[in-house]
Amino acid sequence: MVELLAPGGSLEMVRAVLSSGADSVFVGALGFSRRSGYELRHEEVKKAIEIAGEMGKKIYIAMNAIIDRNLIPKLIERRVADYAKWGANGIIVKTPEFMKEISKNFPEIEVIASVGCHIDSKEKIDFFSNMGATTIVFSTELRRELEKIGFLSNYAHNLGLKTEVLITGTACYKGVGNCNFFSYFAKAFEKIELIDSDGMVVEKVFGNPEMGGGCYRPCLYIEDPVVERLVPKDVLEEMKNEKILNERFMLAREIPTLLDMGIDILKIQGREYPVEIIASIVKAFRDLIDNCLSKRTEFLEQKVFLIEKLMEEIHKRRMIYTGNLREKLYEKLGLKVPVLDSY
Ligand code: SF4
Repeated sequence: MVELLAPGGSLEMVRAVLSSGADSVFVGALGFSRRSGYELRHEEVKKAIEIAGEMGKKIYIAMNAIIDRNLIPKLIERRVADYAKWGANGIIVKTPEFMKEISKNFPEIEVIASVGCHIDSKEKIDFFSNMGATTIVFSTELRRELEKIGFLSNYAHNLGLKTEVLITGTACYKGVGNCNFFSYFAKAFEKIELIDSDGMVVEKVFGNPEMGGGCYRPCLYIEDPVVERLVPKDVLEEMKNEKILNERFMLAREIPTLLDMGIDILKIQGREYPVEIIASIVKAFRDLIDNCLSKRTEFLEQKVFLIEKLMEEIHKRRMIYTGNLREKLYEKLGLKVPVLDSY
């Protein structure tokens, strides 16, 4: 049976999405996931695992920032060992060496090769399978290539792997985990030290999504003077030729096809958005999936319309937050913020 996976940016969100029809939830381990500010402290991860267990649902812990090789033994000992003991179902990972260690030390835990691995070929499936991945998440770049998803999903299933597709989320330039544009803004990166509930000190780099620190999202205000100032002309020209640089997408009409393909997990992104909107999106997808499973596709358009409305709300909030990030970028660079008509 297909699994609907939803975000848990807080304990409140964990409860809300699981009560709204999600089969599973993912939460970020403080300092180690790809979303700054919406991760859980160690004791909260424990609580989230308890909540999911009490509700008979599954939970995955996201540790999908790039993990420094030297940190791996400590994370195995002080994080993954606890998650396994507390009953987590899986860990979401990008760093291959970390994947390998989790798989070796905790064979009972699912190892999910994160969307940040940008898996879009048989070769990459082979590579991450050899690293110990048990679930393959396909790149956001494949969101309009359903046939290819079907082909790669069959390939992964034949290797005994599960497959996952993002049905709502943000598709970064060249795919989540595959964009390098943020690195032109390194002068505005900021080291952030976080102290977890068990005293463990972790470091993030704000501005660098690969280091778990979120991104200034310059791709969403590419005409801005600060972007022209920091990015080489040829790079900028190439990017301006792209029609869609970083869209929020949804695959609602595509649900029947994804179900026919036997995709194992359908994931909703959005730890950073208000709980009530995310819970409504989860409920709408739950109804849509259940209707499709019982072949009642006459409701498809009605559900798609509802999800589109909810996504508009998400988009509005995303652009407000992007505006704040742009201002922060100017501030970090010691520049005055010019007023733009729109971005
Ligand atoms: S938000 Fe934009 S700049 Fe940042 S990683 Fe995604 S596509 Fe690249």
